[in-house]
Amino acid sequence: MEARRALIRRAVNACCSKQGFNYIDGKRCEPTEPKQPIKVIEPATGLLLCSFPSSGERDVANAVASSKRAFAQWSQTSCVDRGRILMKAGSKIRDNLDFLAHLEVKDNGKPIWEARVDILSCADAFEYFGGVIPSIAGQYIPVEGDSFALISREPLGVVAGIGAWNFPLQTCTWKVAPALACGNTFVYKPSPLTPMTALALADILVEVGVPKGAYNVIQGDGDTGSLLCYHPDVAKVSFTGSVSTGAKVMAAAAAGIKKVTLELGGKSPLIIFEDADLKNAVKATLMANFLTQGEVCSNGTRVFVQKGIYKEFLKNLIEATNKLKIGDPFDEDTTVGATITKEHAEKVLSYIESAKSEGATVECGGERCLLPSPNDGGYYLSPCVLTSCTDDMKVVKEEVFGSVLSLLTFSEEDEVITRANATNFGLAGGVFTKDIQRAFRVVKRIQAGTLWINTYNLYPPFLPFGGYKQSGLGRENGTAVLEQYTQTKTVYVEGGDVDCGPLYQE
Ligand code: NAD
Repeated sequence: MEARRALIRRAVNACCSKQGFNYIDGKRCEPTEPKQPIKVIEPATGLLLCSFPSSGERDVANAVASSKRAFAQWSQTSCVDRGRILMKAGSKIRDNLDFLAHLEVKDNGKPIWEARVDILSCADAFEYFGGVIPSIAGQYIPVEGDSFALISREPLGVVAGIGAWNFPLQTCTWKVAPALACGNTFVYKPSPLTPMTALALADILVEVGVPKGAYNVIQGDGDTGSLLCYHPDVAKVSFTGSVSTGAKVMAAAAAGIKKVTLELGGKSPLIIFEDADLKNAVKATLMANFLTQGEVCSNGTRVFVQKGIYKEFLKNLIEATNKLKIGDPFDEDTTVGATITKEHAEKVLSYIESAKSEGATVECGGERCLLPSPNDGGYYLSPCVLTSCTDDMKVVKEEVFGSVLSLLTFSEEDEVITRANATNFGLAGGVFTKDIQRAFRVVKRIQAGTLWINTYNLYPPFLPFGGYKQSGLGRENGTAVLEQYTQTKTVYVEGGDVDCGPLYQE
């Protein structure tokens, strides 16, 4: 076991120290026109993980041109062959599970057990879209007499993906797997904080038979992302990130009348009624707040608890939260890893300070924990439960994107629905109750793209995911996403003579 771990660690270190962080035409390469250097810090230790130059206009153009060339071949590959290749990618990801999970932890700082779950879900996505794509057919529609129409679904061309840092490979996979399944080719720009696993995916895809250039990776900061959005040969941009950047991406896409999918932030409600199964409600509250150090877009950070069970719920929640183990994310029993960067940790702590100044009480956590060397440079925050919160506090209104849970109480169903919907976000939400009619009533009225009844934060790739309101535009996953990576072509076939009324005289 120890020998295997040492092997994986060596492979991970080799991957991070290899030169060339772009991947174009089937190989890792340096930008030809290097811009400002990006230094990636390993969250777990605070030490330098790797550094590379941001990519400029010429390199973005090279990546897009390569994907455009590959489109000619990939878009003509039969859907069965595309599906088979994507299924193989899924198995290859499973074969490399430990390597990819370790690489993800290096980049992101999340606990290794969570990284394994994420990587397996990437395998699921390739297998799902590989399996589903051969069954997507066009339509035959009779028109009149012998005339009819054919509706075919065609790929868009080169799609650009831009990702966030909290689920690096999953974010990439949720875009790449359906886009490739539909016959598009893809240029992906990972977050500059987490460049590694999207790069490792490129090797896997080429190995299983995806043509070189069909999936390229271009590394860089926001400027690189912007260049990609404005590139005239990019047909669509699929973006995951903050609302403010999403607005810029949408504006860039608008300039070229490009299609756009936006997966943005959230401030989701988790509503717990008095008749809920308390233990399950506590478990789901942990899942809704403290996975990946709280850096999860769909988190249910506004936890509304009905007054009758508030005290008991709070006691159980605090006990469960205090049992979470903050530690080196590579340790198998760690449940809370390292915050992505020092700056982000400071932002999270500043939300807790602002909550206190507005009258909230810190029931537990909310502090930086120093671990022994070599992890003493990492930013480990203890999960924080806030009480005495009100709906108008900054911490209750804004996305914190860290382990900070605001507990709120309520009395009536109507009241809690109104309060749950009083936000510009609409990504997700949850309800805990044993009353099935109430559960359906509530989820019907909550304005969000995904609702969970008696659980939280589960999103298998066969279910659509995406936001209402400012949480986004379009959907990822499920068969719904196939419409977003294709366009229909209508072919009208005349079965008789052309009827042009009085336009034509014999
Ligand atoms: P961010 O908006 O700062 O950056 C996201 C990506 O956009 C990065 O790759 C960045 O380099 C790039 N970028 C920055 N400026 C750009 C520009 N002008 N044009 C094009 N690209 C540009 O977000 P982040 O801090 O990386 O991620 C956190 C945010 O992502 C949170 O708000 C979170 O809720 C959201 N998120 C949403 C989902 C979802 O599925 N809805 C999933 C994960 C994260």
